Amino acid sequence: RLISQERLGDEEEGREESIRPLSLDRYIGQEQVKRNLQVFIEAAKMREESLDHVLLYGPPGLGKTTLAMIIAHEMNVHLRTTSGPAIERPGDLATILTTLEPGDVLFIDEVHRLQRPVEEVLYPAMEDFSIDIVIGQGSGAKSVRLDLPPFTLVGATTRAGLLSAPLRDRFGVMSRLEFYKLEELASIILRTSELLGIGLEQDAADEIARRARGTPRIANRLLRRVRDFAQVNRAETITVQEAESALGHLEVDRLGLDQIDHRLLKMLVDKFAGGPVGIDTMAAVVGEEAETIEDVYEPYLLQIGFLQRTPRGRVVAPSAYEHFGWAEKGKSNG
Ligand code: ADP
Repeated sequence: RLISQERLGDEEEGREESIRPLSLDRYIGQEQVKRNLQVFIEAAKMREESLDHVLLYGPPGLGKTTLAMIIAHEMNVHLRTTSGPAIERPGDLATILTTLEPGDVLFIDEVHRLQRPVEEVLYPAMEDFSIDIVIGQGSGAKSVRLDLPPFTLVGATTRAGLLSAPLRDRFGVMSRLEFYKLEELASIILRTSELLGIGLEQDAADEIARRARGTPRIANRLLRRVRDFAQVNRAETITVQEAESALGHLEVDRLGLDQIDHRLLKMLVDKFAGGPVGIDTMAAVVGEEAETIEDVYEPYLLQIGFLQRTPRGRVVAPSAYEHFGWAEKGKSNG
């Protein structure tokens, strides 16, 4: 799936590194988040303290990992990267924490997926820069408090609501990333094309941007695929015609919707008269996890107003019927 959202293990992850912006100046969009971070970073540097813990949340591919890297870069410290599911035992986290250097940034992706016992190690670590470790076994076991260097935890999650309250409360900064505007996506695409040495016209960048679901990762991925078509067609510079024709082959429509979005909405219309339908039913009918629907598909469909959330479930909006040319309940199709 072209717009799949997997992160690590992404076949293009290695190549992704070369196009990540490394300073706040080069990070396009998210103006509010950037402005605040700029202030917090500058203040922490003036006080020669570590930056307060930061929680970044929002749909996949919007730049959370990139921002974590930028924070470390701007603070002139090392970045250590891990993820919630990767830390299996409290001891694993203790090892990571005790090997940090003063001021380091520890980035935990999917921070909502930390196991409870692991989370409990994190609380005193975040609050007092210390952890309690148990030495010895049985009746001779005793708990020893270990001091840690001051560090900054940057946590990323698709939804802040997935975090336990005690963990959420320990982040001093909470920033929500939004879908990108078309001009911002076009700038990102042009920037990437320069870095990759691809000749791309502005119109072509705009066309790719329109189909990128407000998401830089998808924008960059579409650009690479369009480049493949252009290359095989021996086009020197990618024009809007070139881009349109390539995007047509990729089965993403003018709004960036693909077969799964189409199937999801069509099922709601055909089987449930447009809803309301619960998330579990939607997931079951299209054969995806409920969490995937909520994190990956639904946010964009809500954003463009094709889907609406009601207390009784999800409902397909009139604009979706119009886009796909479906007849609305009680209306004729002509
Ligand atoms: P997340 O961690 O939220 O899933 P990433 O930080 O991995 O997203 O970003 C995905 C890709 O999009 C990266 O390759 C990065 O280069 C690009 N990207 C994200 N945000 C921006 C931005 N604001 N400006 C330029 N490129 C961006």
